[in-house]
Amino acid sequence: DDAAKEGQRWATFDPATLEDAEWKLSLLGRLDQAIERGEIWVAYQPKIDLASNRVIGAEALARWKHPEKGEIFPSQFIVAAERSGRIENLTAYILDNAVATAARINRAGRPFSIAVNLSVRLLDNPGLIGMVERALARHGLAPHLLTLEVTETTAMASENESFANLERLSALGIELSIDDYGTGLSTLEYLKKIPANEIKIDRSFIGMLDKSQGDRIMVHSTIQLAHSLGRKVVAEGVENGATLAELRRMQCDFVQGYHTGRPMSVAALLAQLLPDAVHSAA
Ligand code: C2E
Ligand code: MG
Ligand code: MG
Ligand code: MG
Repeated sequence: DDAAKEGQRWATFDPATLEDAEWKLSLLGRLDQAIERGEIWVAYQPKIDLASNRVIGAEALARWKHPEKGEIFPSQFIVAAERSGRIENLTAYILDNAVATAARINRAGRPFSIAVNLSVRLLDNPGLIGMVERALARHGLAPHLLTLEVTETTAMASENESFANLERLSALGIELSIDDYGTGLSTLEYLKKIPANEIKIDRSFIGMLDKSQGDRIMVHSTIQLAHSLGRKVVAEGVENGATLAELRRMQCDFVQGYHTGRPMSVAALLAQLLPDAVHSAA
């Protein structure tokens, strides 16, 4: 009967799933408040230029310091924020903080560019261009010092609004990077047409580079293809010196990873880049 069926259902039900769902719902309800309360902060991961061996910029990564749950990573709230219409607020906040930090480092005399992740969900948003222009104007950062990272997706086919927005951003002088390159469904046609200055090879191709001949062949030929199309190449997820040496041999332009710098607070970033300056808490 029904009661027995009900019992069976509950017998196979994993309470962890319910807890997980409840936890995500309660999290989301708090995201807007979290921004107002200053629980959202930006971690900066150094980006190294292999020609000069210098930190030439950083990627801004969203973090949530929850008062009870502790540090929460973007894998736990970005997709949910996208689905619930909160990604615009979140992005405006991260962008403003990241651009402010980059402007501050440049004002101190050190050239520095900042990369911000842009959700594909925002690409056809009519407010996007204004949001980016306002952040740059507010802090006085030159557009070429901002890179927007977008993952490759078929939603960016050349005839639609998302693609038009990428071209508008590019026309403003903002740099565009194709994030997690190699994991999406993009065609060679797309790589040729998209107005990106840079491709960022996904860390799933980089992690085993020192051990896997197959990965070395793919990464090396991707670097050569990108270079012949006039694009720069970043490798993400560089975790050891052997991988770094391989990428250098392949003439990769930039690297990011735990080996060359972990995501860090703005205070730690400023201490590393501007060691002689006195840093205020703000
Ligand atoms: P992503 O843009 O591809 O960022 C790289 C991720 O790899 C980051 O994780 C970073 O902490 C991690 N990582 C860096 N170096 C290494 C390494 O050597 N080894 C390993 N195993 N991992 C490394 P994180 O911060 O958890 O971010 C995950 C993803 O969340 C990002 O992937 C990005 O897609 C998204 N995300 C982060 N912040 C934002 C944001 O402000 N807005 C949007 N829309 N998405 C964001
Ligand atoms: Mg990224
Ligand atoms: Mg990436
Ligand atoms: Mg990635």
